[in-house]
Amino acid sequence: MPRYDLHCHSTHSDGLLPPAAVVARAAARGVDVLALTDHDEVTGLAEAREAAADAGITFVCGSELSVSWEDITLHIVALQIDPRNSTLTEGLDAIRAGRLTRARRIADALAVAGIAGAYEGAQKYVTSERLIARTHFARYLVEAGYARETKDVFKRYLTRGNPGYVAHQWATLSQAVGWIHAAGGQAVLAHLGRHDINASGMRRLLAEFRDTGGDAIEVLSPSHTPSQYVEFSTRARVFGLRASCGSDWHGPGEGWMDFGDLPEMPAGVVPVWKDW
Ligand code: AMP
Ligand code: MN
Ligand code: MN
Ligand code: MN
Repeated sequence: MPRYDLHCHSTHSDGLLPPAAVVARAAARGVDVLALTDHDEVTGLAEAREAAADAGITFVCGSELSVSWEDITLHIVALQIDPRNSTLTEGLDAIRAGRLTRARRIADALAVAGIAGAYEGAQKYVTSERLIARTHFARYLVEAGYARETKDVFKRYLTRGNPGYVAHQWATLSQAVGWIHAAGGQAVLAHLGRHDINASGMRRLLAEFRDTGGDAIEVLSPSHTPSQYVEFSTRARVFGLRASCGSDWHGPGEGWMDFGDLPEMPAGVVPVWKDW
């Protein structure tokens, strides 16, 4: 069985390594089929595809789209997209356009909480002039001594109910799925276990995603416990969705899982790659 990893990040969004280095690491750790899925971005794909050809692994063009649904932010991983499709790239441009003003508002909120200079601080960690993410703020706040790890920054500052949190309107679910399909790709609801959402909200979301034409959900993710692997494979079956897997790797020493650490896909699901 080839090893699939269909979710990771490079310096074209909030990852620490350039696309070619991400691919080289994945290949060295035994990944056979890799998708690069930078947030709201496709500019790293050409470099990654070339590196994958050099390394002898199969490359999948991807992205991770930011979506607002009800009052939560969701991430929709796009797989097998044509990165030149203008419906998709214009949609991604629209999503990214809001990030700069949001970053200003995050900095203002942190300043109110007594943390000055966070916008400039975060900029030091930005690696693409096209995109700023909360991760860049998190890395700066660690440097400035407000927390020991980026995880703690999210827990204490950047998530709902905390001083550096600001609400933001991203794309809608149907826009994101529509753009992905226009580009010939599949839409995958990412790391569902990460959301604070009750059982009826989860059913509502999965029904709406399926009815909008969504293709798959992430079953294997470092955001999920082994019992959630089982839970989300059951949900995939119940809702007629396929199953995906990805390490969501951002860089050495960050996150919960490295390339090659994903377990086998549970039996009984249809993998998202079935017709590739
Ligand atoms: P943004 O799209 O700017 O809101 O940033 C989202 C990114 O922040 C995610 O893709 C993760 O890389 C990172 N992130 C979100 N929550 C956490 C967390 N609890 N711990 C560490 N990183 C997180
Ligand atoms: Mn990220
Ligand atoms: Mn995500
Ligand atoms: Mn991700």
